[in-house]
Amino acid sequence: METPVELTGLSQPELISFVETLGEPAYRGRQLFAALQHRRLRSFDEISDLPKDLRARLNEIARPATLKIESKYESADGTRRYLMKTHDGLPVETVFIPEERRDTICFSSQSGCPLQCTFCLTAQLGLLRSITAGEIVEQIVIALNDAYGTGVKLPRGTNLVAMGAGEPLLNLDSLLKALRVMADPQGLHIVANRVTVSTAGVVPRILDLARTTDRPHLAISLAAPTDELRNTLMPINKKWPLEELLDACKVFEKTLKPGERLTFEYVMLDGVNDSDEQARQLANLLNRHGIRSKVNLIPHNPADPLPYQPSSAETVERFKNILESKGIHTYVRRPRGRDIFAACGQLAARQNTLSNLTSIGANN
Ligand code: SAH
Repeated sequence: METPVELTGLSQPELISFVETLGEPAYRGRQLFAALQHRRLRSFDEISDLPKDLRARLNEIARPATLKIESKYESADGTRRYLMKTHDGLPVETVFIPEERRDTICFSSQSGCPLQCTFCLTAQLGLLRSITAGEIVEQIVIALNDAYGTGVKLPRGTNLVAMGAGEPLLNLDSLLKALRVMADPQGLHIVANRVTVSTAGVVPRILDLARTTDRPHLAISLAAPTDELRNTLMPINKKWPLEELLDACKVFEKTLKPGERLTFEYVMLDGVNDSDEQARQLANLLNRHGIRSKVNLIPHNPADPLPYQPSSAETVERFKNILESKGIHTYVRRPRGRDIFAACGQLAARQNTLSNLTSIGANN
């Protein structure tokens, strides 16, 4: 038997062509797209506006969903983490972060990750595989359905961040495909302007993204103000060192819309990259390149066996003040979902939360 076609990653025109190959009229493709993307249905049997024999046919040759939800964890702060499995048994994680004005969904672009950032738990999985456009769209659908229920209308706009497991710019084609599917006004209707992609610094792909129309916003993970330190924290720096990375950012800057800024993320590791001197070095580095940007300081989210501790709140504040005194817009990212291993750098397909870890410890 041929492998079933995954329908969640297909655009509306592609779905129309697909049903036409089955001898069906174009409007069946539009119905199918609306069912999967707008109503967010995940089985053909629920799509009752399609004739029964067509549904039976689809069941044989196609899949309306492939990810299986293995577990769901809910944080004391309302953040939810979903651990899912692909059809070939690999972990995919998604985090839903409720916020006052607008909720955010943090999705994964790969199962595991090939980069070996020393402060990130996902690195310990290694790369299992890049995921498909359909698997990206499905993550969003699953999180939305759990938050709001399967239905027609989303209560309010949703922001997406490609900051889960994996390096999105090593899976750029699937990512852009998923974003195009999700932007369709007759589907999820989440436009690229609502999406931020975070990269460890894959320079050629940053340049590709700069040439892409309807591109998402970009965030760059820096973690260090010098090559010497960045080489030890983020090995990708040996391939694309800071100067090359910031030159690419400068090219990207030319594509920024009015009011848009590039984001530089900086994980704050106690005693490693959080000194006053390092704050000045970072400010000088960014000012020397003069890129319209802001800095997002992320207190390290600790997790065994990572060898780091988060910088103290006072240190983070001091670092922020130094950057601001040198004219750099600086924000501090509030950690969300640390207790359920849902925070930045904590996604490693863990089948547990801090509270049940504690109880395991108590029983042993
Ligand atoms: N691979 C991409 C996207 C995933 S990580 C990237 O590197 O940008 C999203 C953000 O979380 C990155 O800025 C990363 O530096 C940060 N991060 C990783 N591990 C972390 C940890 N343990 N604590 C806090 N932030 C972390």
